[in-house]
Amino acid sequence: MKIFLDGKFVDERNAKVSVFDHGLLYGDGVFEGIRAYNGRVFKLAEHIDRLFYSAKAILLKLPMSRANFIKATTETCRRNNLRDGYIRLVVTRGAGTLGLNPFKCKAPSVFIIADKIQLYPKEFYERGLDLITVPTVRNLHSALNPAIKSLNYLNNILAKIEAINGGCEEAVMLNSEGFVAECTGDNLFVVKGGQLFTPPLFAGALYGITRQVVMELARNSGLTVSESNLTRYDLFNADECFLTGTGAEVIAAVKIDGRVIGGGHPGSVTKKLISQYRALTQSSGEPIYS
Ligand code: PMP
Repeated sequence: MKIFLDGKFVDERNAKVSVFDHGLLYGDGVFEGIRAYNGRVFKLAEHIDRLFYSAKAILLKLPMSRANFIKATTETCRRNNLRDGYIRLVVTRGAGTLGLNPFKCKAPSVFIIADKIQLYPKEFYERGLDLITVPTVRNLHSALNPAIKSLNYLNNILAKIEAINGGCEEAVMLNSEGFVAECTGDNLFVVKGGQLFTPPLFAGALYGITRQVVMELARNSGLTVSESNLTRYDLFNADECFLTGTGAEVIAAVKIDGRVIGGGHPGSVTKKLISQYRALTQSSGEPIYS
């Protein structure tokens, strides 16, 4: 596998970063998870925009232009003969001293990995997920804003551990006020009375690109979509619930904390959005081979 590393393509065995890199020492950096479908990179410009927003929020000056990030991403796919896969784009603060001061880091490091995607097993899409609310509260936006896609994912990892320990694949994370924020790597939606509801960003959700696409698809189908604070009660009593994310795409949740959601199987609104989302991924995006 060829990895893009600081402007060069290197074999994965030689794709190495320093042990003094603050990305490793402190989780100081930003990243994106992107998908390629059918020879195109889906929503690439949106992912690069979000990377720039995350970098701005942590005062990290990205060493490449938007256009060069786009070029480097498609080139990484080409070098690995990828038509369908998962791309991880990472920018670390770079090698510095053992102290925290990020301004002592020489230069940010950029690497891009284009690999195969590991999806949830197919039966999860047919059956739907069983979710659990976990004790770890989503980061406060006044502390480490969940809108920043930073390399510091311990908050999510702790929640993921709690979900797995509780026998579930994915966790519902609440914010410090007890409102639903999101899952560990996905945004969350509910359907109630034919309308869609999803937590607003200030509740502690990432500005999910799949979330945005699904909101547009739903509105184009005539559904009302609202960003509103949700409690666990709202999840338990929803007609349908589903998650959205680049990796998981759109996937139903059919049980939360032992409460069966709706009919206990993926509902009609969710199923329609799953198929509309899949159709869109197959037919749009930045061409890898042009
Ligand atoms: N929330 C979190 C915490 C995430 O890490 C992700 C992406 N993996 C999402 C939501 C979904 O965002 P997107 O649709 O842009 O992949």
